[in-house]
Amino acid sequence: MKNITDKLSRPIKDLRISVMDTCNYRCPYCMPADKFDDDYQFLKKEQRLGFSEIEKVVKVFAGFGVNKIRLTGGEPLLRRDLDRLIKFLKRIDGINDIALTTNGQLLQRQLPKLIEAGLDRINISLDTIDEDLYYKMSGKRGKLSVVLDAIDAASESSLKSVKLNCVVQKGVNDDQIIPLLERYQDTNVVVRFIEFMDVGTKNGWTKEEVIDFNDIVQIIENKWKISPVEPNYIGEVASRYKYDNHQGEIGFITSISKPFCRTCSRARLSADGKLYTCLFAHQEHDLMPLIRNNKDEELAQIIASIWQNRDDRYSEIRNQSKDNKERIEMYMIGG
Ligand code: SF4
Repeated sequence: MKNITDKLSRPIKDLRISVMDTCNYRCPYCMPADKFDDDYQFLKKEQRLGFSEIEKVVKVFAGFGVNKIRLTGGEPLLRRDLDRLIKFLKRIDGINDIALTTNGQLLQRQLPKLIEAGLDRINISLDTIDEDLYYKMSGKRGKLSVVLDAIDAASESSLKSVKLNCVVQKGVNDDQIIPLLERYQDTNVVVRFIEFMDVGTKNGWTKEEVIDFNDIVQIIENKWKISPVEPNYIGEVASRYKYDNHQGEIGFITSISKPFCRTCSRARLSADGKLYTCLFAHQEHDLMPLIRNNKDEELAQIIASIWQNRDDRYSEIRNQSKDNKERIEMYMIGG
């Protein structure tokens, strides 16, 4: 098979796979507890892609140029034997990087076997280092000390990178920017600040709650001088910065104030086999019937045509788009 590009000449390099739609947290900006209560119908086991089905799909994507896989959720560490899936994916030709995004609550115990299976990089969500605020922002489900210990274990491991994802909301956790940096400055843990986004339809997003890149940099530069550094690769999501007088790296994910759609090479696969070509997609492409009926050739043709007809750039047109079509929920595709 051959490398393919979309209508904006963007190649497909990264596939994000949600391996679990459920989560042990109820973060208000992703899975608000009042909307995702005990009666909420999540996918049944048989509705989720099995490991060999995920392997089959990844082989097709690898044939079109994908070389990075990110495992997400919901909370991916709720999926049993995830290390077995990592082993399957690591042996696929062309796949040379496997990453995981997790809330970290279940991480420390599973870390050794995930790394042994071939995990390369990890992103851990951490919106605050204040114990009470953490408990509140996890929907009263998470224990901060457990996650801080897991971050330490990950930073001392052989993983290629350990990054923290902090979604900054005005008046909620913007006072945590400096404490987070103070904790991880002069370490190999990269702190990334994410502008609060209008993902899905359930997080009650308003522009007034956004504290954007310039404001965050201002808060940081009141304390430390920082400077931009070159991206690691074209299409890297976060813009990278370094301290002038300290070790350590800071990242910024700026979908609201500085969109990065022009180099977006990411596709997303939900746990029930639906393909999405953008984080803010409202159109889904159900691959499950082809996957389960072993229509491999048709599956490859469909995936190629979906990508080649892709023209997503939601963050660039956010303010102009009048469509109020239902966008896919964050927990279904894992950011
Ligand atoms: S808004 Fe869509 S196209 Fe733009 S960077 Fe995000 S996922 Fe990619």
